[in-house]
Amino acid sequence: MPPTTFPWHATAWQRVSASLARDQLAHALLIHAEGGMHKLAFGRTLAHGLLCAAPLGGLPCGECRQCALLAVGNHPDYIEVQPVDSVQIRIDQIRELSERLAMRPQLAQRQAALLWPAEAMNAAAANALLKTLEEPAGDTHLLLLAERIGRLPATIRSRCQRLPLARAQGTQATAEVARLAAVDGPRAQAALAYAGGDPELALAVLAAEPWKSLLGLVQRLVDLARGQVDAPAFVAAFRGEGPQLLQRWSRLIALAVRAQAVPGGAFEDFLGLTSRLEMSTLLPLATQLERARALAGSGVREDLLIHDLAARWSAAFRTGQRGRVA
Ligand SMILES: [Zn+2]
Repeated sequence: MPPTTFPWHATAWQRVSASLARDQLAHALLIHAEGGMHKLAFGRTLAHGLLCAAPLGGLPCGECRQCALLAVGNHPDYIEVQPVDSVQIRIDQIRELSERLAMRPQLAQRQAALLWPAEAMNAAAANALLKTLEEPAGDTHLLLLAERIGRLPATIRSRCQRLPLARAQGTQATAEVARLAAVDGPRAQAALAYAGGDPELALAVLAAEPWKSLLGLVQRLVDLARGQVDAPAFVAAFRGEGPQLLQRWSRLIALAVRAQAVPGGAFEDFLGLTSRLEMSTLLPLATQLERARALAGSGVREDLLIHDLAARWSAAFRTGQRGRVA
């Protein structure tokens, strides 16, 4: 069984496939997209395809000996590097990677390494990687996964071929999200819109608990806008959930700014209300939310930050509307 691929990666696969057909796939690829976007799944499938004995358009066959070893996580020519202490990729990890890449492949035609997230390399590690990027062995491929390439040193960026993963959109993506999450189309569409076209995030939020809790937040924001709850009650409802609340609220404002029509009810009331706000009211709210998110981890009391935002949110619907609302 060949591994499945996601329809939102189709364009990236076409590029890879075309490069492979011309034998021009770069030794170092920088696969990037903000958010999840199933980058890791894409990177692993590509790396496996590079080691597979009978790949098709870059995809691993899933049946050869190389694929069998890869499937059980036991292929000597495949290397994954990620933070050990869940914070940084350190120089000794890069040195070990470079030493292995300098050797000949043992079983496959080449070696493939996946390094993620690339932003996790500290300065010494990034420096150490430069040498490997400058003098790659002929039969190695290094795949870097990154969310924000702006955080990578320019010296690293310039030595990699960039492969961006496009946001998921259209009916095929919605149908696939609906199928994977076992939900109906309108709900999948709502989740995908909320996630800004990131299907990995959409699928995470469509799980039972996150979805229920997101809809709870949406309802409270609607109540707050309609004056049915006040700021202290809003703060009390989300005590202890500060960072997650701010992140979700921020995504909901981004959705309102994009003014995407989301049928099916989930965000209908919310978007109906926010669509009445002037952009000159909505955009400062978005800015204040980002500021609050930045402050939330710095010792400032979260309940005060959330109270302030709730009061601004509530006030926006009293003063910032286009025309009059009954
Ligand atoms: Zn294979």
